[in-house]
Amino acid sequence: MATEKSTVTASLPENPMLATALNKLEAAFDALDLNEGIRAFIRHPERELKVSVPIYRADGNIQVFTGYRVQHSSARGPCKGGVRFHPDVDLDEVRALAMLMSIKCAIANVPFGGAKGGVCVDPSELTKVELERLTRRYTHMILPILGKQRDIPAPDMNTNAQTMAWMMDTVSALQSESSTAITTGKPICLGGSEGRAEATGRGVVITMVEALKRLGQDPAKVSVAIQGFGNVGSHAAKIMSAEFKSKVVAVSDDTGGLYNPNGLNLDAICKHVDESPRHRLEGYSAEGTKQISNSELLTLDVDVLVPAAIENQITEKNANDIKAKLIVEGANGPVTHQADKILVDKGVILIPDILANAGGVVTSYFEWVQDLQSFFWNLEDVRSKLTEIMKRAFAEAWDMAQEKNTDLRSASFILAVKRIADAIEQRGLFP
Ligand code: NAD
Repeated sequence: MATEKSTVTASLPENPMLATALNKLEAAFDALDLNEGIRAFIRHPERELKVSVPIYRADGNIQVFTGYRVQHSSARGPCKGGVRFHPDVDLDEVRALAMLMSIKCAIANVPFGGAKGGVCVDPSELTKVELERLTRRYTHMILPILGKQRDIPAPDMNTNAQTMAWMMDTVSALQSESSTAITTGKPICLGGSEGRAEATGRGVVITMVEALKRLGQDPAKVSVAIQGFGNVGSHAAKIMSAEFKSKVVAVSDDTGGLYNPNGLNLDAICKHVDESPRHRLEGYSAEGTKQISNSELLTLDVDVLVPAAIENQITEKNANDIKAKLIVEGANGPVTHQADKILVDKGVILIPDILANAGGVVTSYFEWVQDLQSFFWNLEDVRSKLTEIMKRAFAEAWDMAQEKNTDLRSASFILAVKRIADAIEQRGLFP
């Protein structure tokens, strides 16, 4: 394996997510004392594809959108990662997210590398028919680098099971065969997996419980505040309350939060969200429960805080006011780089997104395995295998943190980079 200095040095990207990811990578390289050749290998995405995606709009005119698919690493297996439809999508963001997928898959030790894709579009401006045309044409444009043993997309921001069904159907039509294993996150009737919807929330709870065990705390005796009551936040709330008897005292969404120091009535809140026209918390009221803002929720005097909404919620402005001793990142990137340092210095235990919310990709892995075998598991199988993998990943990250005397985020990067570097070393270079 090459040991000479790489001629390519790490650039300083403007995109904060990519800059933060590269920073963490460099720290892991140093901790592992990797040679420059391997560092350069891991810094650079293997393949980047930029595509033009023309579609007929409803008025008969053609509009061209820009899309991307970046494959960061296939050293550990086929590339795996979501597709997002958002006006802010650009190459650097997709690069950063692809790299983080390599890291996340390596921490969970599922046999995937990392990828990400996206189209620069505001999907709310498209009709359902236009969205389907966009999805199918984008799939066609990136198909040369997709494949069930090459690169397997999944849903991400503003894409869902329907998007994955359209992508899978497009590939199946073009290849004249049923290609269910080409995407994950599909509807169950098209090869989706039982337990996928709850998987990320369940993984968040498993890592929380594992951390509490090591801190000598009983999950049934902790109070928890959860920001975000969507897929991740609502499932995490229900699972920790029903299965571990944790006291969920606060939840919030983009309409504001609810707080009851004696514990919220989650059944009543979920019923309200299900039945309200916008599926939001707004309008819910109950005796002993008061309305709070999202910023108040983050600084409540609770044992555990689960930011499960959007990125950049805990910053250098509010990090010093956080009272929770354990933070579990359900969302991607809810704590900024600066806030992360403040919290670590304060002694807060922070389970990073790349570990805490890996339950989604682990269950995507299960879906892929089931599709390849055309043999489907029941919910209990999925839950028990997910629990086993998440517990193992947490234990390995925790042990690495002890060994390297560092925080869990840095330890998770070290663990992942070591696995990717080992795979690269063992493969050697072609030709
Ligand atoms: P979602 O759209 O189902 O829910 C998001 C929730 O956050 C909603 O309740 C929304 O109202 C709330 N929210 C939005 N803006 C907010 C704001 N400014 N303040 C407070 N709340 C706000 O999304 P999700 O699937 O639950 O994903 C949440 C986070 O978890 C995202 O960062 C996502 O990338 C990450 N994630 C999700 C999965 C998954 O499987 N769904 C997997 C890995 C990571």
